[in-house]
Amino acid sequence: MKKVRVRFAPSPTGFMHVGNARTALFNYLFARHNKGDFILRIEDTDLERHNEDAVKAIFETLNWLTLDYDEVYRQSKRFDIYKKYVDYLLEKGLAYECYCTKEELEKMREEQLKRGEPPRYTGKCRNLTPEEKERLRKEGRKPVIRFKVPENEIIAWDDLVKGHLEFNSSNIGGDFVIVRSNGIPVYNFVVVVDDHLMNITHVIRGEDHISNTPKQILLYKAFGWEIPKFAHLPIILGKDRSKLSKRHGSTSVEEFRKKGYLPESLINFLALLGWYPNEELYKKLASKKEHVEIFTKEELIELFDLKDVNPAPAVFDTTKLDFINEYFIRKLDLDTLYKHLLEFVKVRKDIDIKEENNRLLIKYKNEIYETDKDTFFKAIELTRNYYTTLEDVFVYLKELLKDEYEIDENALKFLRENEDSLKVINAFYEKIKNLEEVLSKEIFKKLVKEIQKELKVKGKRLYMPLRIALTGKMQGLELDALVEFLGKDRVLKRLENFLRKVENA
Ligand code: GLU
Ligand code: ZN
Repeated sequence: MKKVRVRFAPSPTGFMHVGNARTALFNYLFARHNKGDFILRIEDTDLERHNEDAVKAIFETLNWLTLDYDEVYRQSKRFDIYKKYVDYLLEKGLAYECYCTKEELEKMREEQLKRGEPPRYTGKCRNLTPEEKERLRKEGRKPVIRFKVPENEIIAWDDLVKGHLEFNSSNIGGDFVIVRSNGIPVYNFVVVVDDHLMNITHVIRGEDHISNTPKQILLYKAFGWEIPKFAHLPIILGKDRSKLSKRHGSTSVEEFRKKGYLPESLINFLALLGWYPNEELYKKLASKKEHVEIFTKEELIELFDLKDVNPAPAVFDTTKLDFINEYFIRKLDLDTLYKHLLEFVKVRKDIDIKEENNRLLIKYKNEIYETDKDTFFKAIELTRNYYTTLEDVFVYLKELLKDEYEIDENALKFLRENEDSLKVINAFYEKIKNLEEVLSKEIFKKLVKEIQKELKVKGKRLYMPLRIALTGKMQGLELDALVEFLGKDRVLKRLENFLRKVENA
């Protein structure tokens, strides 16, 4: 058996669409599962349309997703190679120069449509004589190079995802361009040359490329090269089952990264866009797994098989991504989560973490928090069950780290309407002040019980005043956990701040 070699071949566009990332991931998983090679090929032949930042974005995003590759190529460095193979086709009479102008081609197309025929290049320039070519060149025309497409040939392949597919060569638009008039070879040509020279065994890509495959197969045949296996991955639709677009919200990996999704989560989520382990595997897994839709990268490598890719459209549902991200945020050990946070703040201008001798200076939007690392980790532990994204770490910090806060309008209303509130708060303040033990959840509960007995208030009338006094809000974290986290001194500070505010109001 030949060693499996697959490639991910993105064109630099400046960001990575989730569909492209899914293609990268499936290639990666297939390569790693089969102990093969995963090759990155940057398709940057269109020198005018991309810049180096867009190329950097590809490396950066694959790196972030942890999809490591074994070899990397850039097509813009391979023009000499392509030229050799174009010359070969010209010499063999399998390709030819076409001097048609845009206007002539447009006219050809219109006439065909008028006759009710599908548009195709008629082969008009197939047999130009050297003299005719000379004359056309003198007119200032620059030729393209077209590949001679045979008539009425069945081009078929057994797609590893889509099953048997076939086309009639007469229906693929006629002799197609392989080199543009500016001398740059086109995608359908360079992809074949590269896949052959790079010994690619399996071409795994989006189903939007199915119509390119017959052209590519004809080129393999013209060169007498072995044809790789093809696997065309299902299209990705939005939840409303229309083609995924900007309307559906974020569609690039970079956007999800900026929102605070973990690479683990995105990998898990992308893997499920068209793939699921088959029943047998699933049964083996289900008994061991806490949740049937959670997969680590290692598990995916172990399980992935193209046979289990569903040819039907995949639906892009970010509520699943949220669920997965929530799961990983809860499960990761704190050091790993912290590393992710440091990576995350790099892509956010409005968030920053500065570390100096175990002190942390944290900036979030207009807030600044100063704390030590232990307290920060404790704050995360206390709130991580509420997070959907890494940004939520900072959203919840305020309640834990700021001892100065405004009192919400509805909280003030509650205080006005419940006259015994201040009594409760004052009683609590006295008890904390006189407390000799370390303030724990249990002690907190004990103190509240005492107040309940002494003042004969209970339920909401007992807890809500305390919550408002300690946070300024009517909802938030579990009070006992919050109080334990704050400790005696900070609880006192908060209560004093609160009482001062109420007196002044
Ligand atoms: N550059 C092409 C794309 O980004 C590659 C297609 C292929 O994998 O053959 O769609
Ligand atoms: Zn022509």
